Amino acid sequence: MQPKGSCPRCGIGMLAPEVVEETLIVGPNAVQVTVEADVCSYCGERWFAPPAIATIDVAIQHLRTGDLSHLNHIGEVYKAS
Ligand SMILES: [Zn+2]
Repeated sequence: MQPKGSCPRCGIGMLAPEVVEETLIVGPNAVQVTVEADVCSYCGERWFAPPAIATIDVAIQHLRTGDLSHLNHIGEVYKAS
């Protein structure tokens, strides 16, 4: 694990590796992925390494193409009127 520096966004917090649940919005749908990210202790910004970005891209691609065999249905998304 390479040493983590300060946050490029706020410049105040320090980055620490964490396993996070990221919710990705694809049109009217959403898909949740569990990936590792470097999380800023101050502003909470999540920085993803290439493997996590690849996982995110694959999940988005599956949802976009309707290939749901790799995804688990966990709920519905509603919009308040
Ligand atoms: Zn920050």
